[in-house]
Parts: sequence; structure tokens; C-alpha cells
Amino acid sequence: MSFKSLGLSDALLKAISKKGYTTPSPIQEKAIPKVLERKDVLASAQTGTGKTAGFALPILQILSETPTLRHRPIRSLILTPTRELAAQVLQDFKDYSEFTDLRSMVIFGGVGAAPQIKQLRQGVDVLVATPGRLLDLQSQGVLSLAKVEILVLDEADRMLDMGFLRDIKKVLALVPSKRQNLLFSATFSKEIKQLANGFLHNPVLVEA
Ligand code: AMP
Repeated sequence: MSFKSLGLSDALLKAISKKGYTTPSPIQEKAIPKVLERKDVLASAQTGTGKTAGFALPILQILSETPTLRHRPIRSLILTPTRELAAQVLQDFKDYSEFTDLRSMVIFGGVGAAPQIKQLRQGVDVLVATPGRLLDLQSQGVLSLAKVEILVLDEADRMLDMGFLRDIKKVLALVPSKRQNLLFSATFSKEIKQLANGFLHNPVLVEA
């Protein structure tokens, strides 16, 4: 199995080879084609399995297949539990999108909001965010989630452990009802299953 046979564009293949990846990891082999088919995906994957590329690559592929909208509304939202993970996921999106014209950025709390607000105003295709700062800036009218096409909950089990269920539910109420959903979690507790049942539509199950 090669990245090319997964149906990824030349621009993404170039970035993948620049990263030094030669073959897709098991989670990538399974998840990438399903995301490209526009399916909702429920994925069980730990950090270190290559899960980030498992969602980032097909999201970039999907977004680059349609022309960038003039005002660059947020078309994909990646929710993560911590700022460290958010920063890491953003770096992956930046690396993989180097040869596309898609823009990604990250917002998280604990740092000043002003630079984030300034960057958001310039328009962004992919937003990586922790829940608190996202809802804060949304309620200030600085960003809109009304054009989100693909929503990812990354490390969903950690988000629940950290008490983000209410925030996740608020975010779910702010994104369009017609959208693609991806949920990545290392563990599958009753709470994760409940959350998944509540917002995934006929999900494909994928295991690393
Ligand atoms: P992740 O599980 O997404 O945190 O990724 C773990 C590490 O594996 C990261 O440093 C990635 O850059 C790297 N990685 C992801 N996919 C591949 C691949 N197909 N081949 C080699 N390394 C990879």
C-alpha cells in the first residue's frame, strides 16, 4: 500500500515525501479512504500511530478539491483537549499543506487573544482549537463556525476526562447539521460511546 494508491494529490504526496514517510501506517491505510468517501469515522487510535495524518491528509485533500471561498470561512474544525496537542496538530496541518494554498491556524487559552483574533480576521480554512478559547472567541463574534464541513474530535477520551463535555455540546450546536464528523479516541468508555452515538452518522469503525 502506498500513499498514492490512497488517492492523495501530488501536492500532498510531495509534502509526505518531504516528511520522509514512505508507507502509510495501519490507521492511515484504513482511515484515509473512508474520510475521502466522506464517511463519518469512529477511530480507536493512540498517539504514535500516525492518527493525525490519518485525518489531516484526507481533510486537506477534500478542502483542496473545491475552490477556496473568498472570505475563507473555517471549513474544518479540529477540537483537541490541550494546547500542546493543538500546537502539534497545527504543525502537522502546516507541513502537509505546504504545497497547497490552504491556510491553517491554532487557537488556545493561556496566551493573549489579540494575535489569534488578528490572524482569524485574515481568513483560515482549517482551525485547530481547544474548546474554551474557541467558545470565547465565537461568543465575541470573532469567528463563525457556520461553514464548517468537517469536524474532528481528537483524543476525545481526554477531552471528556478534562470535563469538556458541555463545551463539546455547545460547539456541536454551532456547526451546520450537515457535515462530516471524525472522532478519534484511545479508549472507548460508555461516555465516549454515548457522545459518538449522539453526533456521528453511520460511522465507519477504524482501529489502529
Ligand atoms: P501521531 O500518532 O499522529 O502523533 O504521529 C506520530 C509520529 O509518527 C509523528 O511524529 C508523525 O510525524 C509520524 N508519522 C505519521 N505517519 C507516518 C508514516 N506514515 N510514516 C512514518 N512516520 C509517520
